[in-house]
Amino acid sequence: MIFRFPEGLRKALTLSYDDGVEQDARLMALLDAHGLKCTFNLNSGCFPPEGHRWPEGQIHRRMTQSAAVELYGGSGHEVAVHTLTHPDLTQLPSTEMLREIWEDRRNLERLFGGMVEGAAYPYGTYSDAAVEALRLCGIRYCRTVWSSHSFDLPQDWLRLRPTCHHDDPELGRLCEAFLADTAGFSSRLFYLWGHAYEFEANNNWSVIERFAEKMGGHESIWYATNLDICRYTEAAKQLRLSADGTRVYNPTACAVWVEQNGSVLCIQPGETISLAD
Ligand SMILES: [Zn+2]
Repeated sequence: MIFRFPEGLRKALTLSYDDGVEQDARLMALLDAHGLKCTFNLNSGCFPPEGHRWPEGQIHRRMTQSAAVELYGGSGHEVAVHTLTHPDLTQLPSTEMLREIWEDRRNLERLFGGMVEGAAYPYGTYSDAAVEALRLCGIRYCRTVWSSHSFDLPQDWLRLRPTCHHDDPELGRLCEAFLADTAGFSSRLFYLWGHAYEFEANNNWSVIERFAEKMGGHESIWYATNLDICRYTEAAKQLRLSADGTRVYNPTACAVWVEQNGSVLCIQPGETISLAD
């Protein structure tokens, strides 16, 4: 029995962009045009005052709270914790670490509704204490900045390694390899990260335009936010097999797809199905 994504798909693609900058609007429009899904990691203690005007030439331009709510709210993309004020978590006492995560999560849930259960580490730095603080605050996954150059599903979701950054010289090769991958046994995940202001700083919006064109619109790929994928894999891990391995029970509230001897099976919430036929 092999774990598959919804509808039996073998591949999933997700993006993760940080800091809540004005350039996220252009990025989101581009992703929407190609059906890609992104998680935007926000610092709710860093919104500039309403009506703020950034000086000419400033590239890192955070959005105001109202602009952020307008852009991300109800967009179909995910908002996630990037801490309240963007400190290096590893340098903080544990009480401050908890406050930075907890307050950001509370603010984002108040502003955007729903559950905020994901995060990305400011500066990508983390420690065992930071991982524990995230776990205590109810965070299910947190992204680092260490590229895996791989499509393996994350094993350690609180030390999540992306496939690569959009400026990675390997990006083109990784896209080709992901699209060409058809024979593999395991399910595959392409995880891209970055900051949208970097496209302006490096004058290379073409990188993400090409990425979206090439990677979007494939029926074989599940386009999902980080949390969609995290929750789905958490549910899939809870499937229970009978002693002889011929029946499988789904104890979760989420339909889960598996592949058995070349056929795709969907196990509905609470259902037990036979793998033998
Ligand atoms: Zn950041």
